[in-house]
Amino acid sequence: MSESSPELVNCKILLIGNSSVGKSSLLLRFSDEQWLPEDESSATIGVDFRVCKMDVKGKKVKLSIWDTAGQERFRTITSSYYRGAQGIILVYDVSNRDSFEALPRWFSELETYVSASVVKILVGNKLDKEFSRQVSEEEGRNFAERMGMQFLEASAKTSVGVKEAFQEVVEKILETPELWASKSGSGKKTSASTSAGGATGSIPGSISLDAPLTGEDESGGCSC
Ligand code: GDP
Repeated sequence: MSESSPELVNCKILLIGNSSVGKSSLLLRFSDEQWLPEDESSATIGVDFRVCKMDVKGKKVKLSIWDTAGQERFRTITSSYYRGAQGIILVYDVSNRDSFEALPRWFSELETYVSASVVKILVGNKLDKEFSRQVSEEEGRNFAERMGMQFLEASAKTSVGVKEAFQEVVEKILETPELWASKSGSGKKTSASTSAGGATGSIPGSISLDAPLTGEDESGGCSC
């Protein structure tokens, strides 16, 4: 008998974004406190997933964090990757403008595959490359605001912002009980997203980086 053992909450978080923005590196930095030195080719490292435990706001959280493991190089991510996600970390590289300009496409994909209540955060990675920055912090923040996402800049290399990014997503998930309440504690897989659509690779790309959005991610809706 334990004295009111805290509930175990299972969270599934996905990393998405262009190839080479640092998704695997963020995951390794967060889960293993590890940094694999970048080589000149800036090749994708490719990790599948990691499971970590966290204590957040008095709750025990079992986090499974998924990396695309390079699927995005082929411009498509299968809809099954998104299934059951409660949190999404959308990553771009602050020193690579193309990775920022690809965000509307990624956001459209999210609209297709995950429900509005799924927690989303935008992370501008490689903050240590200030000398070759191509996207200002303000641009990143403005885009995130328009999309109804949280935002921060980080560096998998120096660790800055990494823990905070994951922590913010988990906290927001915990504030949204409909994402986890009915499935916590059992260790069973979750299925919070709507995982709409079956076709892989049909990405409606109608969101611009500048235009205001309508009706995005106002949360509050139950996706279970
Ligand atoms: P992914 O394809 O998005 O998973 O990207 P990877 O994690 O494989 O990283 C691609 C390349 O960027 C590798 O050479 C990494 O070492 C490098 N990289 C990742 N994160 C950072 C960072 O924060 N700063 C710097 N300078 N390089 C990074």
